Amino acid sequence: MSGFFRLLARNRLALAGLIVMGLVVLLALLTPLLPLADPDVTNTANRFKPPLSEGALLGTDHLGRDLLSRLMWGTRLSLAVGFAAAVIAATLGAAIGIIAGFYGGRTDNVIMRGVDMLMAFPYILLALAIVAALGPGLMNALIAVAAVNIPFFARNIRGITVGIAHKEFVDAARLSGMTDARIIATEVLPNVVPVIVIAMSTTVGWMILETAGLSFLGLGSQPPQADLGSMLGEARSALITNPHTSVVPGVMILIIVMAINLLGDGVRDALDPRLKSGALSRPMPTTLVDRSAPVPKPSDDGLLSITALETQFRVKDRVYRAVGGVDLHVEPGECLGIIGESGSGKSVTALSIMGLVASPPGVITGGAAYYRGDDLIGAPYEVLRSLRGRHVAYIFQDPLATLHPLYTVGDQLIEAVRAHHPTPRAEARVRAISLLKSVRIPNAEQRIDSYPHEMSGGMRQRVGIAMALANDPDIIIADEPTTALDVTVQAQILSLLNDLRRERGLAIIFITHDFGVVAQLCDRVAVMYAGRIVEGGPTDTILNAPAHPYTSRLMACVPELGQGRRVLAAIPGLPPAVDNLPTGCAFADRCHKVQPACRTADIPLSGPSDGNRVRCIFPMTASSEASA
Ligand code: ADP
Ligand code: MG
Repeated sequence: MSGFFRLLARNRLALAGLIVMGLVVLLALLTPLLPLADPDVTNTANRFKPPLSEGALLGTDHLGRDLLSRLMWGTRLSLAVGFAAAVIAATLGAAIGIIAGFYGGRTDNVIMRGVDMLMAFPYILLALAIVAALGPGLMNALIAVAAVNIPFFARNIRGITVGIAHKEFVDAARLSGMTDARIIATEVLPNVVPVIVIAMSTTVGWMILETAGLSFLGLGSQPPQADLGSMLGEARSALITNPHTSVVPGVMILIIVMAINLLGDGVRDALDPRLKSGALSRPMPTTLVDRSAPVPKPSDDGLLSITALETQFRVKDRVYRAVGGVDLHVEPGECLGIIGESGSGKSVTALSIMGLVASPPGVITGGAAYYRGDDLIGAPYEVLRSLRGRHVAYIFQDPLATLHPLYTVGDQLIEAVRAHHPTPRAEARVRAISLLKSVRIPNAEQRIDSYPHEMSGGMRQRVGIAMALANDPDIIIADEPTTALDVTVQAQILSLLNDLRRERGLAIIFITHDFGVVAQLCDRVAVMYAGRIVEGGPTDTILNAPAHPYTSRLMACVPELGQGRRVLAAIPGLPPAVDNLPTGCAFADRCHKVQPACRTADIPLSGPSDGNRVRCIFPMTASSEASA
């Protein structure tokens, strides 16, 4: 809640609206306590006194009534009627919308066609018809204004509810045996309340205007009772001779409606669940770079050479060291595996290379990433943009989330092709078909016009790979591309990537948590733990003789077929939180070989530069492994 007010206060216009509206409401509430003249007592001897005259600050009207007093009482009435109408319309409209959206089918059809019929009448005509049927009077004007606004709320809320009613958490609630009423109250309602509040805050001003309009026509408040609309109506005949009688209520209506609309817009921006997380602090096009230490020189001249990369997340006063000094390099045509438990910093490392970590909260605080000798960290956006997808491409875990649901896969492939090479559409389409063929999608000519939801998970991931290949990149960074797929499809995707690598000389950085995948595809592997590389070297060496206790424990977690029954050894404990890393070895608390020396100082990565390098002072030996 305090976050909501902070966001609201950051919006200057909304804050001004809030202050003005607060003052108006306060005055309206205090009206009965103020020493005002009776608003309804006529005194024809004092007709049309100008503003600032003796005893009548804002002057008097055609019957000699005090305008200030009538204005205050009138504002009070208009606000009360407008808000009441908004609350009634929102409550009934939302109830109708939720029921229609939640039950769907025939219920939905019957209700929404009724709502459509109401909407088919011009707005004000419908209100006039309702008041004409019920008879003039403020109460009936309120009913009319509420009634004509119900369809607006019902339509809005129905749309939101339809989206929510088919979400997995509602299905889960159904499976747990909850009644419909309970599901609506606990699962659906909390999700639509912000939308209701937003819709209300943006329509209250409109409803006050409508009520004033009905009163202006003499169908709302009846004489002598004043509301803003009836004051305007009565002043109409003296518009030219005594303009102040109409200016006074007119300015008040203007102030109220402006203030409410500014406030309403602010409330919408601050409350909209989709905007809350970022619209007012939009992520930058590239990750923020704040390197205080001198930029390290490239350690070698590989295709991509990452040196001492550090990436942090700064959330409020906490600092999460997601990546704490990572060195990696890949050569053309080589496949490097990055392996580690979930949360060890693999994805953040991969995203940092191209400045794709969201800022805020992400900041790259040190190190460098040399691509063909140029440092990418801190490179201007245009440079990174020309490299993204063109030379360095990404494949992500969930292809359904990365493909646009409303475009065919062909459209998306064509877009990827044309992003870096402006080609005629027909030519790009031919290229897209050949890309689909190269990732072995059968019937590529027909499949190109499929939508993502018409494809299986494995096919979608092939499309993801085809998009990554669209511009013949040098490096593909694949972030757990097979984790969401079943084992047979995973094997196909892996052999596809392997073939592509051999055919095109692609370098691949393959992120996974599966040693089986590493064994199949990777030349070298780096093991990550708590944001650092704890072991790195040729795949064979590491698989046959892991030196870091973490690596060997990680491999002991992998079940092997045909090895008889074996107890799978889960690693006890959890990885440390990256906002509070211990001194020394981050794995110490979970390590079966831990010694006091492990916790005293930072442990460097040591070993021959072309062999197995390990960040451990008591590495595993063949004999200790046998006993572990
Ligand atoms: P993984 O190895 O599973 O890909 P990630 O690279 O995604 O792990 O995450 C590394 C660490 O960074 C995790 O501890 C995670 O909690 C932290 N992290 C990721 N994104 C954010 C964020 N936006 N704010 C704070 N911490 C984050
Ligand atoms: Mg990840």
